[in-house]
Amino acid sequence: MAIKNLDWSKLGFGYIQTDYRYEAHYKDGKWDEGKLLTDPNIVMNECACVLQYAQTVFEGLKAYRTEDGRIVTFRPDLNAERMADSAETLVMPPYPKDKFIEAVIKTVKANEDWVPPFGSGASLYIRPFMFGYDSIIGVTPANEYKFRILTTPVGPYFKLGFKPLQLCVSDLNRAAPNGTGHIKAGLNYAMSLRAHEFAHSRGFDENMFTDPATSTKVEETGGANFLFITKDNKVVTPKSSSILPSITRRSLIYVAKEYLGMEVEEREVFVEELADFKECGLCGTAAVISPVGKIIDHDKLIMFPGSEHPEDSVTNKLYQTLTGIQMGKIEAPEGWIYEIK
Ligand SMILES: *Cc1c(COP(=O)(O)O)cnc(C)c1O
Repeated sequence: MAIKNLDWSKLGFGYIQTDYRYEAHYKDGKWDEGKLLTDPNIVMNECACVLQYAQTVFEGLKAYRTEDGRIVTFRPDLNAERMADSAETLVMPPYPKDKFIEAVIKTVKANEDWVPPFGSGASLYIRPFMFGYDSIIGVTPANEYKFRILTTPVGPYFKLGFKPLQLCVSDLNRAAPNGTGHIKAGLNYAMSLRAHEFAHSRGFDENMFTDPATSTKVEETGGANFLFITKDNKVVTPKSSSILPSITRRSLIYVAKEYLGMEVEEREVFVEELADFKECGLCGTAAVISPVGKIIDHDKLIMFPGSEHPEDSVTNKLYQTLTGIQMGKIEAPEGWIYEIK
């Protein structure tokens, strides 16, 4: 056993095939035992429910190597719970929480040589996913499902390091009005691709989505939630039933309150008040928390002066504390860290 010989510092956020993946199958009303596989390919019928009706949900978390050489993962219990919620929304049988955690640990253990070294800035991304497997042409939920976990080593999502991000606000919305905006599902990503391409083609890093009903309230980006810092150092985060409840955001709120002694407000945030904030950050497993320097809302420029100097920003303090906890340098709250043994 030896850590793979990759140029970890050059890793982006791309798929690299690792040695093992996990698979469990649901049939006749129950999940089978599940096992590790070496074959990365999935064979299914052309009429599989996932292909025709997009019945699929996923999760994302990371495994890290700590300074003292252990391998750990961060709050997989919350991923298990969220995936069960997502599954329920799309009428899929939830994968049991204890089995989810066990499968994550088994898959990471089997791929431990792919967990990047401590200090490289890279980590092993873990992607559990579930989909309707059998052939469905009349509109109904599938009868058979597959639960899989793939892993791939990744670098930071935003390659810029701490260079502040630039966002735009297009008039394109994702699938929120039909009541699935709060779930982690490919359908939301498919619906966000046009706005994503709109933003990228104009040189922006991401699109900021607003609420689909009035377009006046801040929601999130395609794959990350917002945290704002007021001029008097309060943390403000948008409250909405159509954004994904980010585990990173929930963890950062705890860190802000309990580690940094800050006040936190979860409330509706209007686009109109954005210019009053000192800092803006995007948070998620992939982004951790990345500072946003400016948002262009059509012809209006919104600047976040504090985010332009990331070194001494609150965003950076939050980033350092959370990653310190994840990498085992700062003591974690009870139950946040699961060791892979
Ligand atoms: C995954 C995801 C996030 C971030 O959630 P984390 O649990 O922090 O990784 C935010 N928004 C969307 C739409 C997502 O899919």
